[in-house]
Amino acid sequence: MTADPTPGDLMRRIAFLLERAREPTYRVRAFRTAAATADSIGIAELVERIEAGTLTELPGIGKVTATVITEALGGEVPVYLRRLEATGGRPVAEGGAEIRAALRGDLHVHSDWSDGGSPIEEMVRTAAGLGHEYVALTDHSPRLTVANGLSPERLRKQLDIVDELNARNEHGIRILTGIEVDINEDGSLDQSDELLGRLDVVVASVHSKLRMKSDELTERMVTAIANPHTDVLGHCTGRLITGGRGTRPESTFDPEIVFAACERFGVAVEINSRPERLDPPKRLLRLAVEAGCSFALDTDAHAPGQLDWQPYGCERAAACGVPIEQIVNTWPVDDLLAWTGRGS
Ligand SMILES: [Zn+2]
Ligand SMILES: [Zn+2]
Repeated sequence: MTADPTPGDLMRRIAFLLERAREPTYRVRAFRTAAATADSIGIAELVERIEAGTLTELPGIGKVTATVITEALGGEVPVYLRRLEATGGRPVAEGGAEIRAALRGDLHVHSDWSDGGSPIEEMVRTAAGLGHEYVALTDHSPRLTVANGLSPERLRKQLDIVDELNARNEHGIRILTGIEVDINEDGSLDQSDELLGRLDVVVASVHSKLRMKSDELTERMVTAIANPHTDVLGHCTGRLITGGRGTRPESTFDPEIVFAACERFGVAVEINSRPERLDPPKRLLRLAVEAGCSFALDTDAHAPGQLDWQPYGCERAAACGVPIEQIVNTWPVDDLLAWTGRGS
């Protein structure tokens, strides 16, 4: 019988798996440093420090590595390691393919009713062709005039059309009603309560004043997350990393507070698959995983071909150890609608 792995062994294993998944060096190094510290201290003192709550006073031991040590010495495989072994530990492409295969739909899609390039039916037919069981139509809200955001009247009209398309059901896919609603400066949502209450899926996104001060933006986002209509927090940092619209840095907010709010209020953090967004960045995506959030892995497609961009998000989800069962659009439609609070 071999001896049980020590906390140091387990943290070196984590570092190896992160490295194999091509995670940033600083993250890998944090685990190796913590492993060295744990080795030099020895088990007896680690146990004493767990009891006294003073593990993080050791050099190189932070909140995450302290949790790993505590779980290891409690006789469990640390959650962090389990997640990595389950997804991130394998070659990323393989983990990404498994996630893609589990997806049943897409919860963030635009049509030519706002700034998309194609009619609703074209988007729906394409989504069906990709094997989706459902697709949420989430055109923009009124204040986003540059994107031809839908007034309440136009949204009502769109709901009637979606009703008709669902009744005809020509493509064997359920169209979910939805919106990508702007998060106003004060954290309120840019559409009437009555309409938001009727929609299947509400994606709430920041599209204006992205350079607000961190504490103000944090409060604005948390207010929107706490709104009972909100289901998904869209492209949380607003960054643009490449492409025709140029680049834009991440907006700054307190991610621990924002992700804790998402977890608390049952709002899914969007993994936005658009190549110029790839939002949230991996370090934040991993934080959201650690916060126990759920996720929506979406394309934010504005054209039919973009509906097949989910693999970009899947690859990132795999690299960051996102548990498949916490991705809400892997769920059957009834479970999904029960979660958004509008199921039967
Ligand atoms: Zn958006
Ligand atoms: Zn969008």
